[in-house]
Parts: sequence; C-alpha cells; structure tokens
Amino acid sequence: EVQFGAASKANLKVVVRVRPQNQQEQDKGARCVVDVLDEHMLVFDPKEDTGDGFFFKGIKQRGRDLAKRQPLEKKFMFESVFGDQSTNTQLYEATAHPLIETLLQGYNCCVFAYGATGAGKTYSMLGRQECPGITSLTLQELYQRLEDLKGHKRCEVAVSYLEVYNETVRDLLGNGKPLALQEMGQQVMVPGLSLHKPNSAEELLQMLAQGNSSRTQHATDANAESSRSHAVFQIFVRQQDLQASAKATVTISKLSMIDLAGSERGVATGFRGARFKEGSSINKSLLALASHPISLKDSLGGNCRSVMIAAISPASTTFEDTYNTLRYANRAKTI
Ligand code: ADP
Ligand code: MG
Repeated sequence: EVQFGAASKANLKVVVRVRPQNQQEQDKGARCVVDVLDEHMLVFDPKEDTGDGFFFKGIKQRGRDLAKRQPLEKKFMFESVFGDQSTNTQLYEATAHPLIETLLQGYNCCVFAYGATGAGKTYSMLGRQECPGITSLTLQELYQRLEDLKGHKRCEVAVSYLEVYNETVRDLLGNGKPLALQEMGQQVMVPGLSLHKPNSAEELLQMLAQGNSSRTQHATDANAESSRSHAVFQIFVRQQDLQASAKATVTISKLSMIDLAGSERGVATGFRGARFKEGSSINKSLLALASHPISLKDSLGGNCRSVMIAAISPASTTFEDTYNTLRYANRAKTI
C-alpha cells in the first residue's frame, strides 16, 4: 500500500519579510514606507515622523513637500512580519521548520517566495555563505530528523531542481537540455527531470549549490533573466515502516521550495505564450503564482500545506511594487 501526500485542508500561511534599505536607496534619500509595528502588523506608507513636533512639522513640510499627498497609513496584518533586522534563521523557524514535521507525517508542503525583483526572495530562500537561507536550513534539519527515525523506518530522500524560464524548463541538476511541462490530471509533470539521491546532508547541500550555479542569473539587473525565472527545488521523502506487525505502509511526500519570478508588472509575460493557455492546469499551478490574478486556490488547495513569504523593500523608490505585494499577500490570506 502506497500513500501519496495525504489530502489536507487548504492551508496557506502568509508571512512578510522587509529587507533593509540598500546603499543605492539611501543615496537617493529614499523614505522608509514600511513601519513594522510588531511581529504581526505593519503600516504601509506611514505618516512621516520628522521628530521635531507638530508645530515645526508644518513649516518644514511647506519648504519641501507642499504638493505632497496624504500618506495612506494602511495597516496590514499577517501571521508573521519580519523587520529589516530579521535573520534567515528567524524566518526559517516560523516558515519552513514547522513544515518538516508535516512532511514527515506524509503531507505535501510548499514554501514559496513572492515579490518584486530585488525585494529579497533569493536572499531568503538561498541566503549567503555566512547566513544560509531557509532551503539549506531545512535540509540540515530534515537529515537530522531522518537520522532519528532510522530505528523504526526506512527513509529515502530524492531531490530535483528546475528552473522555469521563458516557457521552458531547465533541469538545474541535469545536462542542461530544455524540458517541457506536461499536464497529468491535476498534476504537472516534467518528463526527463533528473532525480538525485544524496547520501548525506552535505551531498544534498552540494547539489543545491550546484543547481544554483546553473541558474540564469544576473543578480544586479532588475530586468535581467533571473527576475523572469522560477526556481523550484523539490525534496521527496519515502518512508516505510519497519515494524513486522504493521502493514508495510509506504508514504511518499514532497516539499517544494520555490523562488518565484519577480512579481512586478510585465515580468511574467513570457508565460502567457501559446503553450501556457489561459485556464490550463499548468496555469492554475506553479506558473499562475507569478501572475497577478490570485489563482493560488487551485494549485495549493487540497493536497498541500503552504507558506508564502512575501518579500518587500521598505524604500519609497519601490512604493508601487511594495504596495502590490502587500495587497497580493493580504488577499492570499483568505485562501
Ligand atoms: P530577489 O531575489 O527578490 O530579486 P534578492 O534576494 O536577490 O532579491 O535581494 C536583492 C539584494 O538585496 C541582494 O543583494 C541581497 O543580498 C540583498 N538583500 C535582500 N534581503 C536582504 C536582507 N534581509 N538582509 C540583507 N540583505 C538583503
Ligand atoms: Mg532572485
């Protein structure tokens, strides 16, 4: 008897992460338009606090911002809000870490980073050498947990890593040949995608690093290819009971960790080509996550426990992108 990722109620947890302002934004004198009030709440476009009191504020503003519009002062609530001083470890604890248990219970799980180019998606998912992202932190913990299970379960892990770019799929752990997406009922398959069975956490992390180096990447250019590609890392776990008395139940579940294409307008247009017809289940699935109308319901409902990390910049220079991301994340909460 084989049980595939057991069905569960649709379950999407939405968190927001604010990155620090970068040098460029500071040099431009960008205003901070995100005020994190506590671990659940932020204000977008808060009243400017000049710090010099109510009387002088009026005078000061006359010189500078006479034509200035009223701030929106829009409050948003999320399951968690991570301010610009938050670490990848803190993000991990609240997002991917709880999913490891869920994965081992046989549920399919998904963590995806959503947001405009430059907002901090890749930093959160992959991080840097000195502050690994939530993907490596997850892999390390998962191996630890599997080690602990060894006595009463036979566990196998396999991984795949692909990039969807310009209507084609590239296997980041394969030979570089383009692959195609194929619909199989409710599932989206990628025939020919290589599956790897690492023997240790170290080997697994090496594969992640190898895949990353094959990504289409131009990190500093907002219009670069990297902003248009989705990176999908998947970890499959097969568990089999060892107890003689029990039916030899095999459970297969997977965890998907997805670094989505930039959510800013225009970026995902490459996915609207002939092969990605409106209304096809492919569109309802992964690729739909990058387009603006919320269609998460179909892709995430039923069989997946998911966490959305909405990444935003606090700088006034990316006002529209940040506002769009917050509104999108806010609507996603109701799914
Ligand atoms: P995205 O993947 O959303 O396009 P990145 O993750 O590449 O954006 O982030 C853009 C830049 O900002 C990178 O140089 C990255 O290192 C930096 N950055 C993003 N988030 C943080 C953070 N929380 N702390 C420090 N630097 C960050
Ligand atoms: Mg990125």
